[in-house]
Amino acid sequence: MSRVIAIPALQDNYIWIVEQNNQAVVVDPGESKPVLDYLRNNKIQPVAILITHHHLDHTGGIGELLSQFNIPVYGPAKEVIPHQTHRLFEKNLVHIASMNLTYQVIECPGHTLGHIAFYGHRQLFCGDTLFSGGCGRIFEGTHAQMYESLTKLSALPDDTQIFAAHEYTLSNLAFAHEIEPNNQCIQSAITKAKLNLSKHIPTLPSTIGREKTINPFLRCQTLKSQMGTEDEPSTFSRLREKKDSFR
Ligand code: ZN
Ligand code: FE
Repeated sequence: MSRVIAIPALQDNYIWIVEQNNQAVVVDPGESKPVLDYLRNNKIQPVAILITHHHLDHTGGIGELLSQFNIPVYGPAKEVIPHQTHRLFEKNLVHIASMNLTYQVIECPGHTLGHIAFYGHRQLFCGDTLFSGGCGRIFEGTHAQMYESLTKLSALPDDTQIFAAHEYTLSNLAFAHEIEPNNQCIQSAITKAKLNLSKHIPTLPSTIGREKTINPFLRCQTLKSQMGTEDEPSTFSRLREKKDSFR
């Protein structure tokens, strides 16, 4: 069985490391030093790098990692990723043969236009698209694209673990609580997140099933009438706009 380790990086990023038998896949290395330290200290050999989108806080460490390890870099076909060796489209499969891992590529434009997520073994690496309690800011795509991307991700099995790329949970939940002050699930998620963070434990992974109860952006159907909107895409849009100007 593989396990997934969080490497805190930069301000509030997580670089995820999937490891098994002293081999590892590195997801979104925004910087190299904490990854290299971890690999060295634990005598782990990296075998591949997975990239969700082109932002520097997800790609900044690729070059330095490649100067020490000759390994493939998988990333979105529709973006320019430094040192990329494999250009991925919707439904492509990434096979990491030596670790017996397979990930399906899910295109999820919105935060950036070419953003992809990797899904396999009931684990989702979704970069800056879906966070616990929230979703990524829409920098390149449209609200409609982001809504559709989140709808795709939320259709994955409820027990899918979500490995998002930032520790934004507590501030996301503050917004979620403002939207739904009587939602008990959000209240207990806030308590749990505070406890975790006080002990320097990541609030991730979450799960799809859990996010459906606490994440306003996955609750557009429930929030539609409260937000005074006609349909779910416009509920999403309203929520995203409100969140953009929240505090
Ligand atoms: Zn980003
Ligand atoms: Fe990011």
